[in-house]
Amino acid sequence: MTKIVIAGPRGNMGKEAVKMVEATESFTLSAVVDRKNSGKLMKEVSGMEPLDVPIYEDIEECFQETGCDILIDLTTPEHGKNHMLMAFDYGVRPVVGTTGFTDEDVEELSAIAKEKELGAIIAPNFAIGAILMMKFSQMAARYMPDVEIIEQHHDRKLDAPSGTAAKTAQLISEVRDAKQQGHPEETEQMEGARGAEYDGLRIHSVRLPGLVAHQEVIFGGEGQTLKIRHDSMNRASFMPGVKLACDTVLKLDHLVYGLEHIIE
Ligand code: NAP
Repeated sequence: MTKIVIAGPRGNMGKEAVKMVEATESFTLSAVVDRKNSGKLMKEVSGMEPLDVPIYEDIEECFQETGCDILIDLTTPEHGKNHMLMAFDYGVRPVVGTTGFTDEDVEELSAIAKEKELGAIIAPNFAIGAILMMKFSQMAARYMPDVEIIEQHHDRKLDAPSGTAAKTAQLISEVRDAKQQGHPEETEQMEGARGAEYDGLRIHSVRLPGLVAHQEVIFGGEGQTLKIRHDSMNRASFMPGVKLACDTVLKLDHLVYGLEHIIE
């Protein structure tokens, strides 16, 4: 039985992760880390699943008192990084969906995982369809190098562009020469009109209530366009990916950044 701790169990993603762990026969939920209900059981908190699972505010105390194999972190980048560092200290394997980590954060965390020979997964997007969208986009960029990304998310999202958009841009730039798109003399009449720039391609972030997580990658060529689009309709769409990451992280001895590296 794989023992799991979830950080952020009151959040939209965290709630789904609690349900996924409970519904998986080979997983057991050992504890949750929540900064508001420390000392209670989940069943005592309105809005949480009616479970006899203890709630901790202090993640170190949680690891000391709860033997666990995996930490699923679905909080904020600032806390997610500290949670990962603490997990490494206690030999717990992190599976992290929290987005907004910098390249430096990932490098630092990778070095620690390597030194400790401990598996870890950070996945900016756990939706398997979104991983396929990224892979297909990389494939298309070899032949259609002019491309822009439009990502759309709910208006409570803290970081922009999304981790998925940044990752897609990175995958595309791996297969095409950096190129400046648009007119060489174009100007912005309003700041930000052309979006964020990554190796010459543009990323546009839309934030609106009612949205969940959506991305369209638009390729343009002579007389043709190609659009590759993925939509996550709800947070449950991410859970098969979280489960896959939990199963996989147990077999790893290093940090993997991006679910695309564990989906062939
Ligand atoms: P959310 O609904 O705002 O939930 C975040 C939760 O984390 C909140 O309940 C918050 O509690 C809690 N939290 C923050 N700091 C904490 C700490 N130190 N200890 C314990 N809990 C803490 O956000 P969400 O939509 O669930 O998303 C969570 C993260 O996952 C974000 O980074 C988001 O971008 C990312 N995400 C990833 C994927 C993916 O596929 N990888 C998909 C969707 C979202 P409070 O109420 O006390 O603030």
